[in-house]
Amino acid sequence: MNSARRPLIAGNWKMNAGGQEAMPLAAAVARAAKEFSKVEVVVAPPYTALAAAAHELFGENKSDVGLAAQNMHPETSGAFTGEISAGMLKESGASLVILGHSERRQLFGETDELVARKVGSAIAAELRPIVCVGETLEEREAGKTLEVVERQVRAFLDELAKQPGFGVIAYEPVWAIGTGRVASPEDAQKVHANIRGLLASASIELASVTRILYGGSVKADNAEGLLSQPDIDGALVGGASLDAAGFRKIIEAAH
Ligand code: PGA
Repeated sequence: MNSARRPLIAGNWKMNAGGQEAMPLAAAVARAAKEFSKVEVVVAPPYTALAAAAHELFGENKSDVGLAAQNMHPETSGAFTGEISAGMLKESGASLVILGHSERRQLFGETDELVARKVGSAIAAELRPIVCVGETLEEREAGKTLEVVERQVRAFLDELAKQPGFGVIAYEPVWAIGTGRVASPEDAQKVHANIRGLLASASIELASVTRILYGGSVKADNAEGLLSQPDIDGALVGGASLDAAGFRKIIEAAH
């Protein structure tokens, strides 16, 4: 971490905790965030739990936990059955949105071009994007990690450069997501430094203010090592964000 950038810990609940479980989990995260106020804390529940989580986070509790959605459609409205726009997410209480997650890219065919359109639409709607990039195991073994990540970042670089600091990048090696296999702090740092170099090619300000999170099997016991790296500004946490006590420890590690 670098003291010039506020650490950010985001919990991606994926397709979990969408009903009754969302409220107590959001409340527990709000309590943890109050303990470690140096850290910006974000939770990303499924769409159906956004309003309930917003009520829990911003009602009587008045926490400053950020509420994120996990995806959105790039258009503002129209005949797109089953889709949700940036404006609708904002109405539900979200101020951020995760875009280009590898599960979206791999399982739902999202391309670099579509992800870039979504980033542009999110920023236009004043919804802060957390844009995910990362290589597959095959690409890593072929020595293509930096090449793949560079291609993915370049696709949305111009959009991020419009408002330096508004967007966030998450480097999530696909082989580390949900597998228990985490990148070593040194390997992750190399990729993060590379991403920051790319941001610098657009503007020095963009490079110095953009938070770059690491994601992929982050747990309470490996968070500190990762966060000690100069270009790792936080974490995007999947599985471990569903356990309030474990997630609290990750927030503590970033404090
Ligand atoms: P994981 O997921 O922490 O369960 O590996 C991370 C993510 O997909 O964002």
